[in-house]
Amino acid sequence: MVTFLSGGTGTPKLLAGADDVFDPAATTVVSNTGDDVELGGFLVCPDLDTVLFLGGDELDTETWWGIAEDTAETHEHLQDLAEAAGLESGPRYLDDDAQTSGRQIARWRRFSAVAEFMYIGDRDRAVHLTRTGLLDEGDSLTEVTETLADAFDVPWRLLPMSDDPVATLIHTPEGVMHFQEFWVANDGDPEVESVEFCGAAEASATPAVRDALSDPVVLGPSNPITSIGPMLAIDGIRDALAETTVVVVSPFVEDEVFSGPAADLMAAEGYEASTAGVAEAYPFADAFVLDNADGTKLDRPVVQTDTEMNTDDDAARVARAVEQALGGVQ
Ligand code: GDP
Repeated sequence: MVTFLSGGTGTPKLLAGADDVFDPAATTVVSNTGDDVELGGFLVCPDLDTVLFLGGDELDTETWWGIAEDTAETHEHLQDLAEAAGLESGPRYLDDDAQTSGRQIARWRRFSAVAEFMYIGDRDRAVHLTRTGLLDEGDSLTEVTETLADAFDVPWRLLPMSDDPVATLIHTPEGVMHFQEFWVANDGDPEVESVEFCGAAEASATPAVRDALSDPVVLGPSNPITSIGPMLAIDGIRDALAETTVVVVSPFVEDEVFSGPAADLMAAEGYEASTAGVAEAYPFADAFVLDNADGTKLDRPVVQTDTEMNTDDDAARVARAVEQALGGVQ
């Protein structure tokens, strides 16, 4: 049995080719939900959805989000209508009262439907509407995710990190914004002062997550601050990681990041933006998988391979290195 902690790109890339090394039927994936938003009343869970669509063989692997060859008629009409009505585009937050008086799981990241600032495909939207419908009927996010994973024939067990709301908020000189406003609407341009995981102190790890964390854990090459950080901010998850065997794949080659905003976010949180900083952010990690070109000296065991993943074969190679690292420290 093995458990992967996942964001929306690096770890899904690894999972895409890990089947021959880690039996999917004995694999659990715990996804970050700090990036989730409510748009016009429905809950979007970008990191869960990437793994859902990957497992169902429907993921758009050009972007690592959304469903391949999806249409986006509703999204386009929402934009056209807003323009025709002279309604400003960009993230339109619901007012402060609505942020905490609506659906509990969507706290602190509730946006109106007007001019929909995130690109939501039509089939993608059907998933969000079904998820939200089941939540409104009384299911937990864990239960809804299991239902959707069955529908998509996902080969792994897929779990949200918590059934409680946690919102990743980015503090910038221009003010505080949800991660999706920072990343999708502003291309990650605003200067990052600090990162806050609103709700994390009150959120708990579900029994399913606690159970999964008693198995060896793999942190794929995900963003340590905004993909893994929300999980570490939940006491039950951090405590469990201290107890179990953990192998980490670095999302850096020394101080070069493969993609995304990890470098700026790590610097803002006081870590060196590098493999060394990743190791510092993960004091509970027992071993690391680093790229062949990464000369970082760490105080824990290291297995090296080519960690760039563009194909399933690349991912299988990294998965074998993870297996070797796990074998060395278990
Ligand atoms: P997000 O939710 O889209 O931010 O995705 P993740 O946090 O799961 O993944 C983002 C991280 O994946 C970035 O920090 C990248 O450096 C890392 N990454 C992307 N592609 C690769 C790759 O091919 N190899 C490795 N080692 N890391 C990668």
